[in-house]
Amino acid sequence: MSWQARIDEALEQRRQHGLLRTRTANQQGAGRWRLQDGQRWLNFASNDYLGLSQHPAVIAGWQQGAARYGVGSGASGHVTGYSEAHAGLEQALANWLGYPRALLFISGFAANQAVIAALAQKPDRIVADRLSHASLLEAAHLSPATLTRFRHNDAVALRAALAKPCEGQQLVVTEGVFSMDGDSAPLAEIAAVSREAQAWLMVDDAHGIGVLGEQGRGSCNAAGIHPELLVVTFGKGFGVSGAAVLCSESLACYFEQFARHLIYSTAMPPAQAVALHAALNCVQQGDALRARLTRHIQRFRDGAQQLPWQLAASHTAIQPLIVGDNHAALALSATLRERGIGCSAIRPPTVPPGTARLRITLTAAHEDEDIDTLLEALHDAAGI
Ligand code: PMP
Repeated sequence: MSWQARIDEALEQRRQHGLLRTRTANQQGAGRWRLQDGQRWLNFASNDYLGLSQHPAVIAGWQQGAARYGVGSGASGHVTGYSEAHAGLEQALANWLGYPRALLFISGFAANQAVIAALAQKPDRIVADRLSHASLLEAAHLSPATLTRFRHNDAVALRAALAKPCEGQQLVVTEGVFSMDGDSAPLAEIAAVSREAQAWLMVDDAHGIGVLGEQGRGSCNAAGIHPELLVVTFGKGFGVSGAAVLCSESLACYFEQFARHLIYSTAMPPAQAVALHAALNCVQQGDALRARLTRHIQRFRDGAQQLPWQLAASHTAIQPLIVGDNHAALALSATLRERGIGCSAIRPPTVPPGTARLRITLTAAHEDEDIDTLLEALHDAAGI
């Protein structure tokens, strides 16, 4: 089959199954509202959980950083791209999260790929939760190590997987909060089982950092664990983008030698590091924002009990409604859109077949009345 025929066939298959992905251009920021084609709708689809993408202090941080450093880092951090802004942010993150070192990456995707690629060798085994993010599973698939996926959030299944003979080292991989279900991993149990098996634990807390735990320190802080590797990302609770890997001094030094996404990629703009430092301050002082988000989550769950779609077992800002059929999920998303509400229909292969869903995300930028508007539209769509 020619290149073109192969591409046409893949697209046609996606189309036929209601799975064709498209992107729509936003005309303003990621906050409470979304503006598209001149039409404004309530935004229940962003991961900007604390609303920090629009926070004046974070915006000012970026502006001041740009005024001082310019807009680009100019090179990899190993060449000339590493600035005092990066170093200061890494130190602040390490202190805040209780690790000797933090290393900044351009994205969570790159951080996950880099860590796994740098660590995993041929006789090793990566034991990952079945529902781990694509960046983790893909890295594991690409690595020379073998990949075993254990039943979602099941520490017993993890123990059984770790008990199978392995000639190399074992790395357990999971997330603090799962991005498509909003549920939290049983981290204390997972850490205990990993320790028992002398495996290292890597937790991707993309959706927990800033939002959960004391001062927003995330899922591991909330669970009282301290994994060998903690990945935090800044596109969600921090409202910006980028990521950091928290680890020991020797691991950080090892990644500085062997993490190819760090070495061969332009460092994040210093201005972004300044903005992230401002976002970190907002997160640390963000108890009121977190309390507001918690109130919205409760309001939504209380009001959604009667809906015909299964409400996920989530107490986080991610509140999916499991619709099942791909076309039905798309239709529900379109119905909400007509009511001025924006909310993504998530379909396979992002989620397992038969579990297409409306991924509703709540943020501190919402008002109580926004939650009520959403609930009313959902009840009308259900005909109740
Ligand atoms: N890990 C998880 C669990 C995620 O949900 C995401 C983003 N959707 C990433 C990693 C990737 O992070 P980034 O967007 O910073 O590349």
